[in-house]
Amino acid sequence: MKNAIGLVIVLALNLGCGAGPAQDSGVEVTQLTDRVYVLSTDQGEYTTNTIAFVGEDGILLVDTQAEDDAEALRLAVDAFGRGTPKYIINTHRHVEHVGGNAIFGEAPIVIAHALVPEKLKSGSYLFDEFPDATFPDMTFCDSLSLYFNGELVRIVAVPGSHDDNEIMVHFTESKVVHLSSLVNGFNFPSVDSDGDVLRFPELVARAIELLPEDVVIVSGHNDTGTWRDLHTYHDMLVQTTDIVRAGLAEGKDLATLQAENVLEAWKSYAGSYVSTDEWIEYLVGGLQPSDEPTKTVYEPLYYVWKDEGADAALARYLELRRDHPDEYKFDEFSLLVIGNKLLARDHVENAVKFLAASLEEYPDSPYSYYTAYKLGAAYKSLGDKEQARRYGERSLELNPEFAAARALLEELEEM
Ligand SMILES: [Zn+2]
Repeated sequence: MKNAIGLVIVLALNLGCGAGPAQDSGVEVTQLTDRVYVLSTDQGEYTTNTIAFVGEDGILLVDTQAEDDAEALRLAVDAFGRGTPKYIINTHRHVEHVGGNAIFGEAPIVIAHALVPEKLKSGSYLFDEFPDATFPDMTFCDSLSLYFNGELVRIVAVPGSHDDNEIMVHFTESKVVHLSSLVNGFNFPSVDSDGDVLRFPELVARAIELLPEDVVIVSGHNDTGTWRDLHTYHDMLVQTTDIVRAGLAEGKDLATLQAENVLEAWKSYAGSYVSTDEWIEYLVGGLQPSDEPTKTVYEPLYYVWKDEGADAALARYLELRRDHPDEYKFDEFSLLVIGNKLLARDHVENAVKFLAASLEEYPDSPYSYYTAYKLGAAYKSLGDKEQARRYGERSLELNPEFAAARALLEELEEM
C-alpha cells in the first residue's frame, strides 16, 4: 500500500502502517554508559532515538524527535537535573529528528549539516514555518570536533544515501555513535528524493573505517548494534543491490522482481517501515532512474497561499496540473501533506480546504482513510460535529482498523 516515494511522507505524517499517529507519548530511557543515554519514542512500527550525553558540562542531545513528542522529550531531559541542553546536534533535517529543537528555546547551540537551513525552508517544509529555534546556529560540510563533558565528540558528514545532509556523531571515549538513517536500525533503509540508494554501501563502508571495533551503534530508528552488525549490514546492501542489478540486466521489471521474491533470503531486514518489496523498488529506482519530473508543487503553492489564501492556491494547483503536467510531480499526497501541516499550525479552515481537495482529486489514494480522518479532526476543532462524524465514519469505512478514527468518533459521542 505504501510506495517507496511515499515512505518519507509516511514518516513525516507520523502515519505508521495503518497505526495512526504516535501511540505513546512516553520516552523510554536506556543508559548505555555512565554519560550516554538513549531516549526512544514508540511510533507504532518503529522507534525514534535521541542520544542524551550527560555530564559535568551539562547536556548534549543528538536529535530531538518529532514535534508531537517534544514535550515528552523535554520532560525526560529535565529529569537529568542538568538544565537546558547546551548543544543539540541534528543528524539530518527530517521532521522526526529536528521537531523538538524549538521546545528548548534559543539557548542550545544547534549544529547540523550546512544544507539543513535551506532544506528547512524548502519544499513541503515551507508550510511548517519552523520557528527560529529549530534552525541550526552552526553548520559544517566535512567534520567538526567538539570537546564536551571531558570527551572529544567527533561529528562527520556522511551525506548522500538516505538524504544529502546526513551526519554521524561519535562519542569517542564513551565508544557510542549515532548513525541515524544510514543504518536505520539495521533494517532496509529508506531513501529520500535528495538521497541515493546506490551510495549506501560506500557510506556504510566509510563508517566502518572511521569507527573502532568496540563501538555501540545507535540508529535514528529501532535497534542499536555493533561494528560487526555494520559489516553484515554492508554485505546485505552490496548483495541485494547486485541481485536486483542482475535481474534488471536479464530484462526483468520491478513487478517481476517483486513477484519472484528475489530478496527472500534477506527478508529479516524488513522489520521496520521498509518492506522487502519497497527495498526492491528503491533499488530499481536507483538503478533505472526515471525521467519523470521531480519538481514538487509545494513551493509555488506556498507563495500563492501566503499572498492570496487557500482558494487561490488550490486554483493554482489545478492550473499547474492542467497546464504543466510534465514540469511538476503530481502525486496523491501533496495536498494531504499541506492540509496536515496547516492543521498542525492552527490554520484549520485552510487545512479543511486542502484536505477536502485531496479527497476529491485523489479518491482512490491509499492515504484517503488518513485524509478523511484529518478532515474529521479539523471539523471537530471547528465545532462542526456533523461533518466531523461524517469524515470519521468515512475514514473507518476505508480502513476499519484505524484506531485514531474510532477514537475521534468516540470523542464526538461524548461532546
Ligand atoms: Zn530521515
